[in-house]
Amino acid sequence: MVNLSIRADVAVVGAGPAGSSLASFLRLQGASVVVLEREHFPRFHVGESLLTMCVPALRRMGVSLEGADFANMKPGALFMLEPTRERLRIDFSRGLEGTFPYAFQVERAHFDAALAHHAEALGADVHYGAQVRSWVEDADGVCLSGEWGSVRAQLAVDATGQDAFFGRRQRTVEQLERFGRAASFTTFAPVRSATARECVGNGDILILLVPDGWMWLIPLSRERVSVGLVERTPRPGVSAEQAVSHAIEQSEFLVDFFANSNRVQPFRRIANYSYYNRTPSTARSATVGDASVFLDPIFSSGVTVAVTTAEMLATTLVASLHSGSPLEMKEYRAACLKAYTTFDRLIERFYRPEWVQNVFFSAGKDDRMLREFTAILAGDVWRDDNEVQRLLLASAARTGPEIT
Ligand SMILES: Cc1cc2nc3c(=O)[nH]c(=O)nc-3n(C[C@H](O)[C@H](O)[C@H](O)COP(=O)(O)OP(=O)(O)OC[C@H]3O[C@@H](n4cnc5c(N)ncnc54)[C@H](O)[C@@H]3O)c2cc1C
Repeated sequence: MVNLSIRADVAVVGAGPAGSSLASFLRLQGASVVVLEREHFPRFHVGESLLTMCVPALRRMGVSLEGADFANMKPGALFMLEPTRERLRIDFSRGLEGTFPYAFQVERAHFDAALAHHAEALGADVHYGAQVRSWVEDADGVCLSGEWGSVRAQLAVDATGQDAFFGRRQRTVEQLERFGRAASFTTFAPVRSATARECVGNGDILILLVPDGWMWLIPLSRERVSVGLVERTPRPGVSAEQAVSHAIEQSEFLVDFFANSNRVQPFRRIANYSYYNRTPSTARSATVGDASVFLDPIFSSGVTVAVTTAEMLATTLVASLHSGSPLEMKEYRAACLKAYTTFDRLIERFYRPEWVQNVFFSAGKDDRMLREFTAILAGDVWRDDNEVQRLLLASAARTGPEIT
């Protein structure tokens, strides 16, 4: 692909869940959209567990996951302390009124491709293998270019995920040090043990709290389980394979869980990933999804926040296109901050085992409190009747910079 010369109302960089959802919502409001994606799809991506509030947002976009062969129904989340096996199950059907009752675990390669194809079906002009290398903004719009050619648009959006293309070029990405520092992960199949059946056989995600971090066990299908270890202080020189294998060997529970199953994906590692972009928008450019903020993934909030805020951003962009004036981001930014700060505060607390034991696990005894935690863990974070969320938002970060 060489020498393309395209014009559009909005240019979106990146066709992950944030970029493709934004493109779909923009098309539904009549804007012309070009999407530039570096990779060819399907491509591997970590981040397989959705929160329930993603489901209605996807439906508003025209996407339904019911019956999709890459999606496994997720009715709840099981939190467990290792080694005591003390546990609390969050049942999404018991959130606050209006909290959507179930979610899905998805194979991201196929989920992301489905969202990109949906945007194309709605009329978005999606280009694969088109890495954006230059981003120039002037008073009338933005010009993006790469080896494939160039795009001129009135507005541009950075949806490049952790590449955070726009923020890293501006040097406005600030690292958040207070969470897990490295994730090591892979996938096992066939996982058929009685322990696995009992914990994740119904589709629940299992979050296991281990010394110095936590682990995820995500049933991608009946017998295929994604497993990851997130460490706060990863030991130097220890590979992803050594870290995950060691964590499994050290835990009687995990040895039972994975009995007679095999690894079916390579070991992978992503390190130093929590950050926020201090300048997430300008007069003609905005950011969405991980390009804006990335937080420790313990609550699986990334895709859901990306999709739901993409819907809000589409409305903001269309208002600017109609008025011809620079972007007015105050409302969108406030909505993003409400979500990100809620999860930030909760993540911080999950690295304090005494808080998990004394507050979170005790919530099981108080119906209203449990419903409020459930609503947050479902991604139902834009409401005003949640006292647990109100208290989280009223608290300050314990260490390191605030997301602003
Ligand atoms: C270890 C780990 C576990 C996670 N687990 C979960 C989970 O269980 N549930 C969950 O919801 N989230 C999870 N996440 C987070 C989740 O992966 C992200 O929040 C989500 O992918 C964000 O979507 P996005 O569209 O913003 O970015 P991405 O999905 O990363 O998409 C960005 C796209 O931009 C493209 N791109 C990048 N640079 C350029 C460029 N210059 N030009 C053109 N294209 C470009 C990339 O190829 C990519 O396709 C996890 C993250 C990590 C690190």
